[in-house]
Amino acid sequence: MELKKPYTKLSENLFVLHEKMFPLYLITGRQNFLIDTSISAFDESIYRKIKSILSDRLLDHILLTHSHYDHTGSLPLLQKKYKASVSGSKRTIELLQKEEVRTFIQDMNARFNDVLGIHEKSIFPKLKKLNYLEDGEKINIDDSRYFEVISSPGHTKCSLSFLLMPERVLFPGDAAGVLERNKKIKPLFLSDYTSYVLSLKKLLEVEAEMLCPPHNNYIIGKEKVRAHLQLALESAIDLKNKIVRALENGAGIEEVSESILKKEFPLPVVEGPEKAFNINLISIVRAVAKLTKPS
Ligand SMILES: [Zn+2]
Repeated sequence: MELKKPYTKLSENLFVLHEKMFPLYLITGRQNFLIDTSISAFDESIYRKIKSILSDRLLDHILLTHSHYDHTGSLPLLQKKYKASVSGSKRTIELLQKEEVRTFIQDMNARFNDVLGIHEKSIFPKLKKLNYLEDGEKINIDDSRYFEVISSPGHTKCSLSFLLMPERVLFPGDAAGVLERNKKIKPLFLSDYTSYVLSLKKLLEVEAEMLCPPHNNYIIGKEKVRAHLQLALESAIDLKNKIVRALENGAGIEEVSESILKKEFPLPVVEGPEKAFNINLISIVRAVAKLTKPS
């Protein structure tokens, strides 16, 4: 229902742009920031929404929570329109500089176009104005407001979260999983289970007043945010235990991915190419298999 509205003003300087499956967040100030960029299929729509908010002002910076194709897809168009700088973890920036990574992002966005029935080529050229961000770094927005960079690996090795201060608005990227349509939180520990759990604990300690995830609706209120992150943590532990049991019973990685994940999360909020979906499911099971392997 919210999709009819192009965006919602969450506070004086914070906007959520409504894109199907991929809400994006625009933070305005002396400098203007966008967090993540969704898929390339929505690039024109995103640009129009930003333009209608910023008018003649520029989008100065794009902050990336991680390098996945569904967070980086609209970078080429937005950078072309605004010459915005692009910042992420060192690993994210290094990945975006690799040709094979750009080809993969391009291919996944092209496949997403097919899923959506869009007949458009996806092109992901070399980007300019790339910056590394470090854990704990502060990024100034204006005199009184800034982002704090929080390293939050586990979904990927390159994952960062951002905390908008002094309002305490947390942008977790995919570090807190995705709330699916069956109301369960799907954990997304694609690279490493242990760091995923540690990252979630770190995000809980932040005591955010608002949570702005990249695939679900925003959550307002300290207690509600805490409850959501706590549930994300419990869901991760619970899924890990289920996978461990299945592996101990002799099931193979693909079998577990089919039997547990597809049954537990039959109604994903984020559609997408089957290939990306399967890579993710298998990565989750592998991350658990790594834990149970004797070293
Ligand atoms: Zn991701």
